[in-house]
Amino acid sequence: ATLWNADTPDAAEALLQTTAAKPLRLQNFVGNEFYKASSSVDALESFNPRTGKVLVHVPSSSAADVDQAVDAAAAAFPSWSRTPRQERARLLQKVAHLIQENKNLFAVWESIDQGKTLARAEAEVDRAATNFRYGLVAPDSPLYAVTKNFGLTPPNTATNSYFAQFILHEEGTVRYVDGESPVMAYEHRSPAGVFGLITPWNMPLYLLTWKIAPCLAFGCVAVAKPSEVTSVTAFLLCEIFRQAKLPPGVINMVFGKGATAGSALVTSPKVRGVSFTGGVGTGIRIRQDTAADVGKHISLELGGKNPNLIFEDVEMGKAVRLAARAAFENTGQICLCGSRIYIHRSRYEEFLPAFVGYVKHNYICGGTLGPVVSREHYSKIRSYLALAQKESATFHLGSVPEEDPQGGYWIPPVVLTGLSQESRVIQEEIFGPVVTVSTFETEDEAIALANDNANGLAAVVMTNDVSRMRRVGERIDAGLVWANCWLVRELGTSFGGLKASGVGREGGVHSREVFTNLRTVHVPSSW
Ligand code: NAD
Repeated sequence: ATLWNADTPDAAEALLQTTAAKPLRLQNFVGNEFYKASSSVDALESFNPRTGKVLVHVPSSSAADVDQAVDAAAAAFPSWSRTPRQERARLLQKVAHLIQENKNLFAVWESIDQGKTLARAEAEVDRAATNFRYGLVAPDSPLYAVTKNFGLTPPNTATNSYFAQFILHEEGTVRYVDGESPVMAYEHRSPAGVFGLITPWNMPLYLLTWKIAPCLAFGCVAVAKPSEVTSVTAFLLCEIFRQAKLPPGVINMVFGKGATAGSALVTSPKVRGVSFTGGVGTGIRIRQDTAADVGKHISLELGGKNPNLIFEDVEMGKAVRLAARAAFENTGQICLCGSRIYIHRSRYEEFLPAFVGYVKHNYICGGTLGPVVSREHYSKIRSYLALAQKESATFHLGSVPEEDPQGGYWIPPVVLTGLSQESRVIQEEIFGPVVTVSTFETEDEAIALANDNANGLAAVVMTNDVSRMRRVGERIDAGLVWANCWLVRELGTSFGGLKASGVGREGGVHSREVFTNLRTVHVPSSW
């Protein structure tokens, strides 16, 4: 509870000093109370990525701990699902407000725990609050001109949805079935029940709240399990839920390993839906583990190996800056990072030295770049770099890091060329500060190279030609395409991947698909 006095970076830093001697011990959060997990003797150690020292002890929850949380959620469901949506919205707005009030505390801990820069952490905390209060751009947006350029119809703001403001419990369209005895048919949605929400370590609070907010807004209840590698801000968030006076059991948090706590959560028969963000392998596993429970709602947001296509007509300075940001933001540990650059052959000689020079001067470990999250992840990235070396790639920047890192998991940015398109370094997600640069000659070749991958999460297209933006952008196998920009999101639009990058979409009405059940009700005009 003393954590709540620390609302400035200085205070949080002081807290860190005290916890350095005695690491913070997290507890599960069930029915608005903090509990020790039954197996807390086996608590997991989570490390400070900047130093390699133990930072927190994370409970290793057992299947019994998960069941306890699922029961609390199930008990809360009947009342929460019938709570007027305005009241649900009011509580979610309160959560948003409390996150914003405690922004410094969240940002400092997110930065320490995950290794991200403080500026990046601050942006993610803002987004976490926005997830709870989600709204839309004003109708007089300067984007109307762009919309027209693309030949698209500007949005009708009256139909825009808000998670926390008008929470969707729509009755749907009424239709009439004509016949001998006319029948009215209408569609009705209701909250689907208890959800398991499972998230990865790269944007811990941001991704967790991206699931919790719509889940609760649509009248569902949840047991969330954040990544065991970065659990601190999820723990702090529990206290926010308590302070916001969310009814007990509506949102519960269990900490621990994927193979035990995560697996028990997704396979619980009382859990009617799973919203998961994480790696492709884990997504496949969850799909297999839940296959027999046919009606379970499953939404999987998985990994990517995202292409960044740079055409011959770009302004080089802008292309370099955008490509660098897309490759190295959060040390390359964002599922949407553009880790495969394909540039038109005619601009390659100009691009490569400009890009390497820019990255060298602007992406500096300890400054604009944090460490990678964990020792395991460091070793994974290292193994890909060793493979690149074995395949005789040219390292224009960076090298294979030492095997046994001392004092933190630092990997300086790596720029590679000379690999074949079939190389695992180009085909598989590395999820670190590593980018490959290759060339293409024609538009068709650029699209073919972009699509020559098992994943299909995101892509960037850089060109000055509006018709090419559409022509190329709409043919790439990716759930998200950015033309001359990156990482911009409007929260009502769909978010999700094609191919191995996942199933289901989240965002606005797409989240409604995940969290509600749809039925059609038929009523005759007379009976
Ligand atoms: P991960 O798949 O190893 O773990 C994610 C979560 O799943 C963790 O909480 C983990 O404990 C849990 N888990 C592991 N095994 C489980 C099981 N058998 N059953 C249930 N839960 C289980 O992923 P990670 O290493 O934490 O995160 C990195 C990955 O996440 C990358 O592949 C990245 O691309 C992906 N990611 C995707 C998105 C997206 O929106 N598509 C966003 C961020 C990260």
